[in-house]
Amino acid sequence: MSEALSIPEAAALLLEQKRILILTHERPDGDAIGSSFGMREFLRESCGCEVDVVLPTPPPTRYLELIGDYKTTLTPEEVAGYNLILLLDCANRERIACGPAVDPVLLPELSGTPMLNVDHHGGNNVNARWNLVVPRAAAASQLAAQIAIATELQIPKRAATLWLLGIVTDTGAFRFSNTLGNTLRVTADLLDNGADLERVVNAAYYSKPLNQQHFETELLETQEKLAFDGRYIYAYIPDELFAKHNFDMRDGEGVIDLLREVAGTKVVALYYRKGDSFKVSLRSKDQRYPVGPLARSLGGGGHEMAAGITLREMDHNQVEALLLEKVAALLGDREQD
Ligand code: AMP
Ligand code: MN
Ligand code: MN
Repeated sequence: MSEALSIPEAAALLLEQKRILILTHERPDGDAIGSSFGMREFLRESCGCEVDVVLPTPPPTRYLELIGDYKTTLTPEEVAGYNLILLLDCANRERIACGPAVDPVLLPELSGTPMLNVDHHGGNNVNARWNLVVPRAAAASQLAAQIAIATELQIPKRAATLWLLGIVTDTGAFRFSNTLGNTLRVTADLLDNGADLERVVNAAYYSKPLNQQHFETELLETQEKLAFDGRYIYAYIPDELFAKHNFDMRDGEGVIDLLREVAGTKVVALYYRKGDSFKVSLRSKDQRYPVGPLARSLGGGGHEMAAGITLREMDHNQVEALLLEKVAALLGDREQD
């Protein structure tokens, strides 16, 4: 049985719990981190709940000082010891980060612990026991904050700061078209509750290690390619470039924005090898050319303006050709402008 909840219903459900396990998506970004650790802070401090966040792989380095300690491993027996699994910012079960000992697809069914799925991805197909999926929310952190506001309990400053981090990073600091009036209203509430904007902005945008700056400079100089009169810009990151600068995409959330900032580009793509497949990130700068349908047509997903794909059994030249073909069709649907 799967049931859609409203924000007040999700708030009431959380207040009934004693032990909550918080999970998010693999390769956690600012919103995954912010929504999860903000909820942990709020549920611990204001609701007296016992709460753990599990991150089987390390989060981006620049967020470490904002989050504190966390669990890195999880067994099926441990899952069974919680009253509720709270899943945040994760659109499908395959992407739940729960470590090698637990099957993410069968997680609630095998453990007997019900799951509440709180997310803002339109295509969310987690089908948990309870679901709060709001595509108009700019970030899962916005939903987490709205749940906390609905409880009318105190919002600790640290929770407000973490949720602000998620909202700021998923909106590109309020530059992307997912920034709506309500995004700003929730943000205002978080600031009123003491959210530390300076800390968030410093962590998200002014904490780049020098090796990353050198990695990005070489990436742009050697790999940036333009197609369709510059309306499409893309870059392939070879393994050697990661190795040369000792850089890991764990810290690469903002790299694709270097392509997006160029004048005239509508669609950008960044791709690199990950194990035996390729990880592709896509962004659109113009709502007439959404990358969501393109990603879904190749088995990927995400939002309309920010999406991703995992491509298997291809080399990087084939990935390049496939994306060129798909982007040509996307841009070609419209008159040039
Ligand atoms: P990223 O490019 O990894 O920052 O992801 C952009 C958006 O696309 C996020 O909302 C992700 O959840 C989603 N996404 C990324 N990769 C995949 C994938 N392989 N399958 C489905 N959705 C993805
Ligand atoms: Mn995310
Ligand atoms: Mn998000």
